[in-house]
Amino acid sequence: MDKSRIIVVGGGPAGMFAALQAATGSRKVLLLEKNAMLARKLKITGGGRCNLTNIKDKKEHQRATIHNPKFLYKAFEDLGPKDLIKYFEDRGCEFKLEKEGTVFPKNDDSSEIINILEKDLLDHGVDIWYNHKVERISVKNQKVQGVVLTDDREILGEAVIITTGGASYPQTGSTGDGYIMAKDLGHGIKKIKPGLTSLEIKESWVKTLAGISFAGTTVRVLKMNKLQESGDLLLTHYGISGPPVLKLSSYINEIDLKENPATVEIDFFPEKDEEELNTWFLHHSTGKKNLGSVLTEFWPKKFTEEILVFLKIPKDRKMNELKKKERNKVLGALKGLKLTVVGLRPLKDAIVTAGGVDVKEVNPSTMESKKVSGLYFAGEVLDLDAITGGYNLQIAFSTGFVAGNAAGRNEEQL
Ligand SMILES: Cc1cc2nc3c(=O)[nH]c(=O)nc-3n(C[C@H](O)[C@H](O)[C@H](O)COP(=O)(O)OP(=O)(O)OC[C@H]3O[C@@H](n4cnc5c(N)ncnc54)[C@H](O)[C@@H]3O)c2cc1C
Repeated sequence: MDKSRIIVVGGGPAGMFAALQAATGSRKVLLLEKNAMLARKLKITGGGRCNLTNIKDKKEHQRATIHNPKFLYKAFEDLGPKDLIKYFEDRGCEFKLEKEGTVFPKNDDSSEIINILEKDLLDHGVDIWYNHKVERISVKNQKVQGVVLTDDREILGEAVIITTGGASYPQTGSTGDGYIMAKDLGHGIKKIKPGLTSLEIKESWVKTLAGISFAGTTVRVLKMNKLQESGDLLLTHYGISGPPVLKLSSYINEIDLKENPATVEIDFFPEKDEEELNTWFLHHSTGKKNLGSVLTEFWPKKFTEEILVFLKIPKDRKMNELKKKERNKVLGALKGLKLTVVGLRPLKDAIVTAGGVDVKEVNPSTMESKKVSGLYFAGEVLDLDAITGGYNLQIAFSTGFVAGNAAGRNEEQL
């Protein structure tokens, strides 16, 4: 057995980039992946299209990071979004920009990203062992010795990089193994919670309208320091989803919602102020049309019918008979429908895992453990998570790059 090799545990984006960077030096690199293929989660990112990164600058990437953005300063300096794009462009991938700075492969296919990485791993002589699950890390006198597989085989190595990901979407292989390995070695683990997930709502009428969506809404969380996000909203059989909801969930997950339900306020027309809507209403108030049919200019028919039941206003109320109090109720719902958040969707359905290995015990310049020499972490296993927009993959690639480089002690860069 070659003791001088570097072992990478987990073949997701962080692990593949760590292995590649470690292999640019003279060390042998072994990548252990428990699945029969690499990057199962990466394959389904961005709905199979892979939102690789975000074109915005490094500062914006830090701002988009919810937990421990400062920890990422050096990692983004070493491998920023432009460096990541260039890496793939140099290997033939073409990209396109979409809304809010999101970057996707031009062919809308995440496989292109994976194929480039797999080919590069082979070109760099990285040994990849599929269907090999690591059980624990072997350590002697606070120094890494290697890893132990589930069949009790010990593989020796000079350095081990843990890139096992989080605990969401466990069917992809990310089942939180790295947290157990790190905890066994004395590392603190910040509480694991769902991040970027949908919200469960108390109001049952909303859940009967699953599938209805609204473009360009603003969703605010009351009493949470003006927390708000904009984008398309989707009603589901448990509550609400869509980009603004996913983003907000990563902040709401700090609250014990069972004890203290949160209130969200949906503004269906953020670009129209109340005066504008009021004028529109007054303009239509003289007609004999039903309120229900007039409102379908704003909301889908089924939603209009249900919301009028909720507001206790008959849908066949004639516009010229609409009371001021009723008009104000409708205006209030258009600009700020209040819903009660009673829970988050479970971790298994979350896009990312919030929490993880405490970054205070990891050196941000090398990703090396401050507790065990020769042990490194990268990617979602660390207590790092960001909002949607390509920021989470950038974290995985950047931290993987730093860890691989430090473990391989390379002068040379990719
Ligand atoms: C549906 C979905 C869509 C997403 N879309 C985007 C997007 O478009 N843009 C974006 O930026 N982010 C997106 N994300 C988040 C992003 O995919 C993750 O943040 C990222 O994959 C984390 O990378 P990682 O390498 O740290 O971990 P992972 O990608 O989770 O990889 C970990 C790997 O380690 C392996 N492993 C685990 N335990 C062991 C073990 N004991 N032994 C051996 N191998 C092991 C796993 O099988 C897995 O292959 C999405 C996530 C989901 C679920």
